[in-house]
Amino acid sequence: MGKALIIGAGGVGSVVVHKCCQNPEVFEEICIASRTVAKCEALKAKLDGGKTKITTAQVDADKVAELVELISKEKPDIVINVALPYQDLTIMDACLATKTDYLDTANYEPLDTAKFEYKWQWAYRDKFREAGITAVLGSGFDPGVTGVFSAFAQKHYFDEIHQIDILDANAGDHGYPFATNFNPEINIREITAKGSYFENGQFIETEPMSIKRVYDFPVIGEKDIYLLHHEEMESLALNIKGIKKIRFWMTFSENYLTHLRVLENVGMTSIDPIDFNGQKIVPLQFLKAVLPDPAFLGPRTKGKTNIGCIFQGLKDGQEKRYYVYNVCDHEESYAEVGSQAISYTTGVPAMIGAMMVLTGKWKKPGVFNVEEFDPDPFMDALNKFGLPWQESFNPELVD
Ligand code: NDP
Repeated sequence: MGKALIIGAGGVGSVVVHKCCQNPEVFEEICIASRTVAKCEALKAKLDGGKTKITTAQVDADKVAELVELISKEKPDIVINVALPYQDLTIMDACLATKTDYLDTANYEPLDTAKFEYKWQWAYRDKFREAGITAVLGSGFDPGVTGVFSAFAQKHYFDEIHQIDILDANAGDHGYPFATNFNPEINIREITAKGSYFENGQFIETEPMSIKRVYDFPVIGEKDIYLLHHEEMESLALNIKGIKKIRFWMTFSENYLTHLRVLENVGMTSIDPIDFNGQKIVPLQFLKAVLPDPAFLGPRTKGKTNIGCIFQGLKDGQEKRYYVYNVCDHEESYAEVGSQAISYTTGVPAMIGAMMVLTGKWKKPGVFNVEEFDPDPFMDALNKFGLPWQESFNPELVD
């Protein structure tokens, strides 16, 4: 059916490549491109010989000219951006220049400020509409599946959704005293930033990790959850009819938070450059270099993730609650694609989002968040491609 250019060959990129190769009717051809071409070649060596034709390329995705040259040469039907959030705008510019559809899994972040908002990418709406191409923003798990779950709840179960609690739990254990489950720099920027939640039309800012609850998750049991800011709240606040409150919760263990607190207190999580032996270094980037590479956590990680959304609202004048979630097993993910569940739960929806565009189900000119499309074919594909979901109509609520 089509060809995808996959930019980024890290933890998530690897899963996207595996999943595209499991779906050769849609992904007849893929080109894996990244800064370090050896990682692309290693993936090709692992997966070559199947029905999907694989090529590789070296690219610096910070440079629009290099991207335009690559896209013009490869002529993909869609670019799947699983590099870092810093590259979103350069890749979108190159897609505009070559009139190619675009998909990513994380909102653009400027390198020098940890800001999680869509304003930079939403500014491309007119340009994409006029060029007649589609951009799908945030097609990972959260953001991504959480937005699809919201559209699904709105379409099938509610007249009005008043509250969404997004719950992201990782009960995995990799055996290291401290490691992050995806890119440490991106992850630590996110969780050391101020928290926030949406209530009655505005975002209320909170101190980092200052709001804690305990939640008894299906399958994985009781966990400490902390309120964080998360980018999908911004788009859901606009796209879900009648919404009054949205909160995002993530699990962290006491051990993880103690390490993080120490690293913060000694200045290791700072993104402000410092002088070191006559050279400028960013402490957080140095920390990333000494922490375990999340791409190699796979073989060590045991346990499961549980990510989903609890909705409260009205149906036919009656109050209603609904919980939809996916449970993903780290060891099963590793056995299937050689990556742990965090990369798996991001890479599978990225492939499915690209499949939605290539098959024409999510093809319309402009820049969109996932909840702006029909959720049904995506929900079916989640069941088919390794992220089956479960429902509960009487869930415990987060107080
Ligand atoms: P990794 O650090 O493992 O991989 C990033 C890849 O991008 C690497 O291959 C890296 O190359 C490449 N890259 C970085 N900079 C450039 C550049 N300038 N030009 C070309 N390639 C570049 O990250 P992850 O795989 O863990 O994460 C990928 C994305 O997924 C991130 O944007 C992250 O925010 C997002 N994510 C989204 C989630 C969701 O649920 N929505 C959850 C988890 C992650 P090199 O090997 O040379 O460093």
